Amino acid sequence: MTKRTGSINDGQALLERIESLLEDTGHADNPLRPVLTEVLEHIHTQNQRMERLLKISDGYQLLERNQTLSLAERCDKQIKRMEKLARISDQYQRNLLEVAESLRQAANQDALTGLANRRHLMERLKDESQRATRKGSQLAVAMMDVDYFKQINDRFGHEVGDQALREIADAVRQGVRRYDIHGRWGGEEFLLMLPETDQPEAVAVLERIRERIGAIHVGEQAPVRLSASFGVTLLRHGEDTDDTLKRADDALFEAKRNGRDRVEVAC
Ligand code: GH3
Ligand code: MG
Ligand code: MG
Repeated sequence: MTKRTGSINDGQALLERIESLLEDTGHADNPLRPVLTEVLEHIHTQNQRMERLLKISDGYQLLERNQTLSLAERCDKQIKRMEKLARISDQYQRNLLEVAESLRQAANQDALTGLANRRHLMERLKDESQRATRKGSQLAVAMMDVDYFKQINDRFGHEVGDQALREIADAVRQGVRRYDIHGRWGGEEFLLMLPETDQPEAVAVLERIRERIGAIHVGEQAPVRLSASFGVTLLRHGEDTDDTLKRADDALFEAKRNGRDRVEVAC
């Protein structure tokens, strides 16, 4: 309901007073009576008009409220739609992140063995060298090469060679410690980084891997035992990673020269 103002209430009281004066028979002959009666009627007519206008106004306000309500509902719907859109967008973003993550993994992973690839190993070698130099800690770097692998391919075929590489990768994976970094450097060569590791400890880890590889046999009739050679060196703090790799490679060359299936150290 529309709230009536104080002045309307005052006006109502005034009208009631005039009405009671007109009803008073004592004023029947008063010459102002017909004029007042006319004024009163006029006011009544105006009041009725006013009432009608107020009703229309009340109705209009109600209509407006309804419209506001439906606007609120429309808003609500819109918000729900946007929330749905946001959910879809979240899902889309999650999918994109997953795709980006699998791309990142693929970029760092060797497809055949699932180990880290050369690209990733290069990055890690830089990081680990810098970290070891900064902390003054030891970092052993080892290069491993499968012995006479060409003969495996020649004798059993490339497919069997691939399977052998996968088994070799497993032996490396199982032989390293949790915090050692390892991967396929290329072909039948593997790189290992052993953080916070001195020379005897590095040799012990590599010997363990060497033994695991020695337990792999390829071919069904007259199986051939696999073996690998290792060259290991310790990082010289602040040196270029190429120099570290070169020393590990030289040690590997020595291992090959000394009869293969062994670990050689370059100081
Ligand atoms: P060494 O003891 O001197 O290392 O002899 P090796 O025969 O292992 O050395 P060489 O470098 O002559 O041969 C490596 C072989 O590894 C040649 C190549 O065909 C094989 N090889 C490299 N990558 C792959 C691969 O992804 N799959 C297979 N099946 N063979 C590979
Ligand atoms: Mg090789
Ligand atoms: Mg080889």
